Amino acid sequence: MAEQRDGTVVCPGSYDPVTNGHIDIITRTSAVFERVVVGIVNNPMRKDKTLFTAEERRDLIEEATAELGNVEARIFSNLLVEFARELGAKSIVKGLRAISDFEYELEMHQLNRREAPEIESVYVMASSQYSFLRSSGVKELATFGGNIDDLVPPYVAARLKEELGR
Ligand code: ADP
Repeated sequence: MAEQRDGTVVCPGSYDPVTNGHIDIITRTSAVFERVVVGIVNNPMRKDKTLFTAEERRDLIEEATAELGNVEARIFSNLLVEFARELGAKSIVKGLRAISDFEYELEMHQLNRREAPEIESVYVMASSQYSFLRSSGVKELATFGGNIDDLVPPYVAARLKEELGR
């Protein structure tokens, strides 16, 4: 039977930096859809400044997904639904960790739906071993010398140590 894959999807996020939780969602998404574009939000207006530049965040994602043939990483600075339209994406795929993600995602879904009713949002449940994992937690742990080795790939851990050691 032919593989059941369908179209382009976008996995948006800050990815500051990419974690094993993100990689899990991206990998599982890439097994279902034909082409996965990891969209890295570049928002210079935001008050909460990122630790890594958009280009650094993209490079780390590229390294993390190099073995997945149908995944690419792109930076975007416009509205998510506009970016999705530019790519010809049918869906936005997001990971859900816990109830706390749900409320925010429901709100975002409704806003996006209002802007672009033709783009469907799809949610992938976090794997249990990553359901507590977020980039901000990893940065906090790394800042205080905690062990992050099983939370991010080795090159991400090395870059974090470098960046936070400054
Ligand atoms: P965060 O800063 O919270 O790690 P991002 O904004 O970079 O998250 O998230 C990008 C996407 O990845 C979002 O859909 C988010 O819900 C999802 N995500 C982040 N961490 C995980 C995880 N550990 N498991 C599943 N999904 C996750």
